[in-house]
This record gives sequence, structure tokens and C-alpha cells, in this order.
Amino acid sequence: MKRIDADIIVVGAGLVGLVAAIVFAKQNKQIVLLDAQPKAAKKLETDKQAAWDERIYALTPGTETWLKALEVWQHVDLSRANAIHAMHLWDETSDEPLELSDNDANLPKLGLIIENQNLIQALWQQIDALGVTLITDAKCKFLENTEQHVQLGLEDGTIISTKLLVAADGVNSWVRQRANITVKQKDFQQTAIVANFLAEKNHSNIARQWFASHETLALLPLPDKYVSMVWSVSTERANELLKLPSRQFAVAVQAQSRDVLGELKQIGNHVSFKLNQQTATNLIAERVVLVGDAAHQIHPMAGQGMNLGFRDVMQLASSLIKLNTMQDIGERTFLRQYERARKTDIVAMSGLTSGLDNLFASDSGMIKKVTNWGLRQLNSQTTLIKLLIQQAAA
Ligand SMILES: Cc1cc2nc3c(=O)[nH]c(=O)nc-3n(C[C@H](O)[C@H](O)[C@H](O)COP(=O)(O)OP(=O)(O)OC[C@H]3O[C@@H](n4cnc5c(N)ncnc54)[C@H](O)[C@@H]3O)c2cc1C
Repeated sequence: MKRIDADIIVVGAGLVGLVAAIVFAKQNKQIVLLDAQPKAAKKLETDKQAAWDERIYALTPGTETWLKALEVWQHVDLSRANAIHAMHLWDETSDEPLELSDNDANLPKLGLIIENQNLIQALWQQIDALGVTLITDAKCKFLENTEQHVQLGLEDGTIISTKLLVAADGVNSWVRQRANITVKQKDFQQTAIVANFLAEKNHSNIARQWFASHETLALLPLPDKYVSMVWSVSTERANELLKLPSRQFAVAVQAQSRDVLGELKQIGNHVSFKLNQQTATNLIAERVVLVGDAAHQIHPMAGQGMNLGFRDVMQLASSLIKLNTMQDIGERTFLRQYERARKTDIVAMSGLTSGLDNLFASDSGMIKKVTNWGLRQLNSQTTLIKLLIQQAAA
């Protein structure tokens, strides 16, 4: 039997788990980072010549600032990332979009579009630099508590004993189930199709989104004239769309986006994701905290799931740094503070995305009303537009 003692074990080396391991290691905690997958599957190498990764993320300015502070940003290939300077939103009845710009919010940009593999490899470089203990291809077997520690047992007989376990093991979290934390679920009965295109016209660094009843299409700016698409449609319609040859699929996207970017040529493959909302009823158990999709999964229409997970880690890290070295980092009062601090943001973001989905299903003139109302308010200090942007840029 092999025994490992550390301060914190992070279960799950996805984006949120990697960030958690980095921030706690930078606080001089001894970290074990563990993942069920083999190392080769986790450490994606960026191929600079490769076509665009189908998985892309919209990073908020808040997340970017934080990744700079964690010295992850220096490893990001910025030639493969693209700033968002404005957002244009349409619904079925609006001829003119609702326009939100970085100027409205006094920000240099509203966000940044970045590929999954670009971000992942930057995070791994920082993990390697910090000398985090890594266990990959690991099969978790049991979770138990002693008075002072939480112990994670693996199938190969290894026991890892720490003061705190951070569960970042994704939407089907093994830790969450072992800790008997239940979830509330909503099936959107939608599937998101993700693909990249080369557009005929310039995107002008604008993120464009079209809302319809239980349906959203987003075309997000990548460098040059490339765009990344996230199209959330009913699962039935997705199954039809996924059968189309790429040229016909591109024509369908072009029609849905009202030809705004002219002819679209698909680059690479498309992938699809079934959409659910899932929220853990508690974010903590004895010496256990949930972060990222293990704690909450939301609709991708606002591009906020990962940003929300990063904010979980930010909160935990800022609370941890305030503890003195003698205090127990797994102590319940401390974990309760984390849970209380995170609930508002999680409930607000889950409510916003689920609520918008319902709103556009029931009121197809929504964007028109918001546009008219927003424009009427433009002379006042607190326009709806500014509020929307502040929410999205946190
Ligand atoms: C179509 C789509 C578009 C999106 N766009 C955006 C966007 O623009 N911006 C944004 O912020 N978010 C976006 N999201 C959300 C974002 O993808 C997720 O919120 C984020 O990837 C969650 O990261 P995570 O690290 O919590 O979980 P995951 O990425 O699921 O990582 C979990 C990790 O845990 C490991 N694991 C699982 N089980 C075990 C186990 N038993 N033991 C050990 N390890 C285990 C897995 O191998 C994995 O490495 C989007 C989502 C979708 C579906």
C-alpha cells in the first residue's frame, strides 16, 4: 500500500481542476492533482499548423485578469485567440440587432475567444513549473473521513490523505456521489452543435447571437475571417442537422444567421453535446468542496460555465489565503463561508441562462422590446445594456 500525505487533493484535471491546483500550489500548499484519464489524453499539445479546435471558450475579462495573476497567460498562444469588442443579438422578429459594445462598459474588450487546447496547454505548463504531484489513469475506490483528514483510496491500493478534497471531476462527479450530495436537474431537450467556419465577410470582432424559441445560434470571432459556432437546437432537429453533408450544413447555418457573414465554409468536424442544467443542492460535505461542473452545469448560451467554475476557485483561494497557518483548511465553518459566498453567483447564472431560454420560447419580440427600451434609457447612467455587459464580463 502506498500512502501520500498532502494539504489538498484536487480530483479532476479539467480546466477548473487545473486552475485549482495552480492557485493552491502558488499559496504554498502541497497539492495532489488526480485524474481518471491517462496523462497523454489530458496534456494536449497545441499544433500551431492545425485547424481550429472545435471546443472554444469565451473568457470574461475577469477570468483573463486572474489567469495573468496566476502566470498562466504567458503560456497562451495569443495569435490563436481573438478579442470580442461588441455583441449583436437578434430574435426572430428583430431586423436590427441589440448592440452591446466594450465602449458602453468602459472596457478594453468584452471577452476573448480561445481554443480549449490553447488554454489547456498553458495551464499544464504552469502545473509542470509548480511541481504539483500528478496521478493520472487513477481509479477512485473509496472516500472516508478521519477526525483530522479526508482519505481517498485508489484501486491500486494508494491512499491519499489530506485536510481538504476539492472535487473538480465534472458533471457526473464521483466525489459528489460518494459524499451523498444530491443534484437538481433540468433537461433542456436540446443539443449544442459546435463547429468552425471560414466566413466570406469580416466578423469585425463581433460576437453574434440569434435567439429563437428554445434555440440559439452563436457565431464567435476567431482570428482572420474564421468563426466558431455554437448552435443549440432541439435534440430532434440536431439529429437531422448532424446527418447533413458539411456543405448543406454550412448553408443551414448561413440561413439561420441571415447571411450576415456571407458564405460560410466549414473547417474541420462538428461535435455535439446534450444540454442539461444541473445544480448541486450543497457545495460542501465533510472536508469536501465542489467546484466547476461538479457543482453546477449551465446552458452554454451565455458562454459562462467555465468562467463560473473559475470563480468558485477564486472564492476558495481568496478565503484560504486569509486563514493563518495554524487553522484547519478543511474545517466546516470555513467551508460554509465558501458555500454561502458562491450560492448567489451560481443561482443567478443558472437562473439567467434557463430564464432566457424560457423567455425566448414564450416571447419572440423580446430583443425588439429590450432594444427599444434600452435605447430609450441610453441617456441615463444605468442602462440595461450596461447592466447586461457587467453581468457578462465579471
Ligand atoms: C457547447 C458548449 C460550449 C461551452 N462554451 C463555454 C464558453 O464559451 N465559456 C465558458 O465559460 N464555458 C463554456 N462551456 C462550459 C464549459 O465547457 C464547462 O463548464 C467546463 O469545461 C467545466 O470544466 P470542469 O473542469 O469543471 O469539468 P470537466 O472539463 O468535465 O473536467 C472534469 C475532469 O474530471 C475527470 N474525472 C471525471 N471523473 C473522474 C473520477 N472519477 N476520478 C478522477 N477524475 C475524474 C475528467 O477526466 C476530467 O478531466 C461550454 C459548454 C458546452 C457544452
